[in-house]
Amino acid sequence: MDVMAGHVIVGASLAGASAAGTLREEGYDGPVVLLGAERTVPYERPPLSKEYLMGSKELEAAYVHPPAWYVEHDIDLRLGAEVVGIDRDAGAVTLADGGTVGYDRLLLTTGASPRRLPVEGADLDGVHTLRTADDAVTLRGLLADGGRRLVVIGSGWIGLEVAAAGRTHGNEVVVVEQEDTPLKVALGAELGAAFGALHREHGVDLRLSSGVRRITGTGGHVTGVELADGSTVPADDVLVAIGAAPNVDLARTAGLAVADGIRVDAALRTADPRVFAAGDVASADHPLAGIPVRTEHWANALNGGPAAARSMLGQDVSYDRLPYFFTDQYDLGMEYSGFGALAGDARLVYRGDRDGREFVVFWVDRAGRVVAGMNVNVWDQTDAIQALVRRSFAAPVDVDRLGDPAVPLAEL
Ligand SMILES: Cc1cc2nc3c(=O)[nH]c(=O)nc-3n(C[C@H](O)[C@H](O)[C@H](O)COP(=O)(O)OP(=O)(O)OC[C@H]3O[C@@H](n4cnc5c(N)ncnc54)[C@H](O)[C@@H]3O)c2cc1C
Repeated sequence: MDVMAGHVIVGASLAGASAAGTLREEGYDGPVVLLGAERTVPYERPPLSKEYLMGSKELEAAYVHPPAWYVEHDIDLRLGAEVVGIDRDAGAVTLADGGTVGYDRLLLTTGASPRRLPVEGADLDGVHTLRTADDAVTLRGLLADGGRRLVVIGSGWIGLEVAAAGRTHGNEVVVVEQEDTPLKVALGAELGAAFGALHREHGVDLRLSSGVRRITGTGGHVTGVELADGSTVPADDVLVAIGAAPNVDLARTAGLAVADGIRVDAALRTADPRVFAAGDVASADHPLAGIPVRTEHWANALNGGPAAARSMLGQDVSYDRLPYFFTDQYDLGMEYSGFGALAGDARLVYRGDRDGREFVVFWVDRAGRVVAGMNVNVWDQTDAIQALVRRSFAAPVDVDRLGDPAVPLAEL
């Protein structure tokens, strides 16, 4: 075992690399070991389905820190280092190569992995998922010259962003979705339908309410996707984009509580005072929402990693950031702040030009709380929306005034 136990982080991506930086910024000068299963230095994933796939940004531009930064800050970054076990009694993690690394404090930022489609043909060549830089390199190589037939299974954010990039490069794109609108889980039917219209305008063939029976192939390579109604959509490439699942196995095997993600309190601590979790993998008590919240959002990794680092250093942390998310598809950009989990029976209140796709929409629950807000092609709204969400949890909003664009958000 490595002799001097320090602060060990498992998962070298945005949450883990940000946490490592905060440990140093806060003056911790003991060993910091950042262990990552991937072989690329920590990078941000949002560009993988946007600028990188579009060809306007290279991978290096998405690095969380330049490679030299880890050396300069005495961060022991070990790539290709998969952790296979945690011995909480001994205070050590075991690597796939048999080595062990001792810890005083352990942070789990193991993120999430794409869900696999449980159908025949899902392992054929030409069937892809998009999570890693390697995945993105493969997809860009396939789509960049256009002229291919791409079938995207799933119309969540990643599926739609890849559909947009695929169309922009001049490929034929079919999106297969089992729900009756895209993005139904994320945004609800009404706004999901608006995204559906956007994609249809750009030539995407949207097959809604369509289950997948199997993926067909010859010679080990995909040839199409057979739908539940018996029809087959021909394909050169298939992207399975049906969501991600948190990488909780390590924690569960180590006896830590897991419910959707690794359960942590608002200080991002597990029940073991030496073990913390942040980013996509963490299901954290949210002080404002009053429920455990797990989000797969860039901002949560960016801010949650540092919050966990401060907690590891014994600082008083209450991680109460609002979930925040953004997307870019064709000429539409949007930002979303709030609690999707509380938006189930909320009513929608709009400000702006819905048809022109320049508006802000709020989700208001029965108690008059603005549980979420989204700005579409209207910018510099996020701070005001987030402040409004927070205020509305203390005192309900007046919905008529909320819908009146003449009333500044700050006055609600
Ligand atoms: C294509 C794509 C586009 C996205 N676009 C957006 C967007 O527009 N807006 C937005 O808000 N969010 C977006 N996201 C989500 C965002 O990227 C994630 O929320 C963020 O990456 C989470 O960071 P993380 O550090 O928690 O986990 P991850 O980025 O998942 O990293 C976890 C790391 O841990 C490693 N790991 C796992 N288990 C082990 C182990 N046992 N040992 C060692 N290492 C391990 C993994 O290999 C991985 O490198 C996107 C995600 C993808 C994939």
